[in-house]
Amino acid sequence: MNLESTLLEHFYRYVAISSQSNEACSVLPSSEGQRTLAVLLQDDLNALGFNETTLLENSILIARLPGTKPEAATLGFVAHLDTVDVGLSPEIHPQLRRYEGTPLCLNAETGFSINEDTHPALKDYLGQEILFSDGTSVLGADNKAAISVMMSLAKSLKENPFSHGDIYFAFLPDEEIGLRGAKALPMALFPVENCYTIDCCQRGEVIYETFNAASAQLNIEGITAHPMSAKNVLVNPNLIACDFIHMLADKGKPEETEGREGYFWVTDMKGNQNRACINVAIRDFDLSQFERRKAYLKTLTAFLKEKHPKAHIELNITDVYSNIAQSMGDHTHALKRLYDTLLYLDIPARTIPMRGGTDGSALSARGLFTPNFFTGAHHFHSPYEFLPIPSFIESFKVAYRLVETA
Ligand SMILES: [Zn+2]
Repeated sequence: MNLESTLLEHFYRYVAISSQSNEACSVLPSSEGQRTLAVLLQDDLNALGFNETTLLENSILIARLPGTKPEAATLGFVAHLDTVDVGLSPEIHPQLRRYEGTPLCLNAETGFSINEDTHPALKDYLGQEILFSDGTSVLGADNKAAISVMMSLAKSLKENPFSHGDIYFAFLPDEEIGLRGAKALPMALFPVENCYTIDCCQRGEVIYETFNAASAQLNIEGITAHPMSAKNVLVNPNLIACDFIHMLADKGKPEETEGREGYFWVTDMKGNQNRACINVAIRDFDLSQFERRKAYLKTLTAFLKEKHPKAHIELNITDVYSNIAQSMGDHTHALKRLYDTLLYLDIPARTIPMRGGTDGSALSARGLFTPNFFTGAHHFHSPYEFLPIPSFIESFKVAYRLVETA
């Protein structure tokens, strides 16, 4: 099996199905394309011998390849079906280009190009074949590179079988809009011991620390009045909203923090004479800090209620996902195997505290410790997303080696 052509063949096949998730839709899956992709994957898996598949109504697809080595740990790999909607086209037109150190024009019509000055990561891939989009969309390596790695693994095991333990695949919808698929995965259908997501991130990256995340919404109802009779009557919800935002100013913002520092991010605000609404993303690696941040918003709300007794102010906080590391406990085996694998393959491990979440953040919160390893891609969630082929191949090799050594 030629690894490069197998991976590319799968990648082109799955990227051709547009599967952007849609945050405005509360149904799982949030878009028809994800269903189409799940059905196609089920057919492909059946053809490859992973014929114990379950496709649920919500488009969660679980597949099992029974093993012949009962002493081996049961392995699970997880990828997500959706691509992110960042306001770009849902249709993806991938192209394979060699990077020669000079700016690459990726779209002759629009003039869209990429170069080392704006995207210095390119420097590491001089002379390599790299997958790019045409700049009208993301590349969708997040997460179709992972899907391709898993499907290529299935193909390889069919063509060159060897004795291994039970392997499970889970393909989950709507990761990009709050890890919805991972929250809905019936764990009884996915009884794995060592579980990994394959997602985002450059060659060698390992993630077992993510943010704790919550979203807060503050609703303020004021009192409007004609200015001629407004004195001591009018209560302006917009000004109350501004007070609230000001009081968050010195508590960390995404643009001023890095590493393991947490933040409040005012992501959305709307207001008129009657009411105002603010959305705030709360993020922190440290659980007690995270809880303190949530408590702080409650304190602020109480303060504003007291200051503006005629306004109606309500705060709702919803937990979104939690830090993978909090559920690690003594389940370090999966992580140790991952580091051993990288060492064996001579891929330098880069462990990063991820300033975001993966499906593993939701699965770990549900009791299944799930670290992540790289697909090899850079600049995900952007039209500059790119995937160097040698890194893509190494992502496959990590998955293959994990099967081999289970
Ligand atoms: Zn992803």
